[in-house]
Amino acid sequence: MSHILLVEDEERVASFVKKGLLSQGFELAIAPLAKTAMEMALTGDFDLMILDLGLPDQDGLELLDGLRGQGVSMPVIILTARDDIDDKVSGFEKGANDYLTKPFRFEELVVRIKARLRDRPSDGPTAAYDEAQILGQGELLLDLRSRQAKVGVRWVELATREFVLAELFFRNEGKVLSREQILDRVWGYDYDPGSNIVDVYVGYLRKKLGSDRIETIRGQGYRLRQLCS
Ligand code: CA
Repeated sequence: MSHILLVEDEERVASFVKKGLLSQGFELAIAPLAKTAMEMALTGDFDLMILDLGLPDQDGLELLDGLRGQGVSMPVIILTARDDIDDKVSGFEKGANDYLTKPFRFEELVVRIKARLRDRPSDGPTAAYDEAQILGQGELLLDLRSRQAKVGVRWVELATREFVLAELFFRNEGKVLSREQILDRVWGYDYDPGSNIVDVYVGYLRKKLGSDRIETIRGQGYRLRQLCS
């Protein structure tokens, strides 16, 4: 299991990211200060860092500089409201591996985390990615690597967001997911809760996976049907 260090002082963002990453099977620790982040990073217990730049005690870029200077080589994804090109450039110069600006979509963060973990030189199994790559069983499967679903004997391609939604359903097989939960996990906290986007995408998935696979639970949300039939 991959262990992620989230360096973030904003409670709301930290809890949003934490909740989402835990549900994706990652382990996570939060450091609200640069000082704490440095101490934690030096333990060598982490596989990847998500780094906010506007920290109360030090600029995130200075922290990054310090980390690389101390020989900390884990991948670092900068996650910040600063979208200035100069900040991006200096982020990469100081050794960041990726850069994502707020507001962001949770699915994009996950895609980037997985990509950065995959890039790592193989100095041991990099957990989350090497664990079960196939979700589901029997007639309905989801391959996390190829991002395809298998329906009976047929493989179907899923668009990015369809895949993220499908993964959420597969990981919560048999459980009812409310529209709000789905919006939050798949589209991010900044999405308009009045939107009907969830229903639209459930419709897309039904077309691809079979219309009876995702049940509508009136007044509650949606549920992926038990897959063992
Ligand atoms: Ca901040």
